[in-house]
Amino acid sequence: MNGFRTPRRVAGAPALRLVHAADAVQAEWSWFCGHCAAPAPGGRPPSPAARVCASCGFGLLLETRGDALPSERDAFLVVDGAMLIQGVSRQAEQLLAVGEEVAVNRPVSELLVAADAEAHGRTSFAEAVVEAAGGHGEAVHAFVRPWNTFGVRLRARIAPCGPPRAALVVLDPSPTQPLRAVPHSTA
Ligand SMILES: [Zn+2]
Repeated sequence: MNGFRTPRRVAGAPALRLVHAADAVQAEWSWFCGHCAAPAPGGRPPSPAARVCASCGFGLLLETRGDALPSERDAFLVVDGAMLIQGVSRQAEQLLAVGEEVAVNRPVSELLVAADAEAHGRTSFAEAVVEAAGGHGEAVHAFVRPWNTFGVRLRARIAPCGPPRAALVVLDPSPTQPLRAVPHSTA
């Protein structure tokens, strides 16, 4: 046997994992600034000596999958495989009430708390970050809670980026699901 060289759908059976392999091959990567999300000039790979963003003069240019590329309006973090923060976008600075210069090299757990307790069957936030920082595969989602906000959970999209290898964590700015509804007064 030599793997699944000719994948065939059996009626009624799910096409297990085949989409993943195809997706990984097709994914195109693009450069962006790890602070302001500006694209690299001309969309071309920056030279190794010109990795600092020309738009904000502050962030490091990084590469990620096109389908995970953040915009300037996105709150996102760059987290390395040791779960340490290596970049914070402007929007994330506001969302999490912390400056990038303070956050860098601090554990991401100081800013984002995993909200996985009720999310059975989903990838945990820490697992997703470590996997992405290892350069694995496509964007995945996990739920987190900002350290400074209780009662909400944010959807985080986690994808590989670099170099050096790290995880790009893009936060959905609109908290969708309350962890639980706690009425302030009950009859
Ligand atoms: Zn920038």
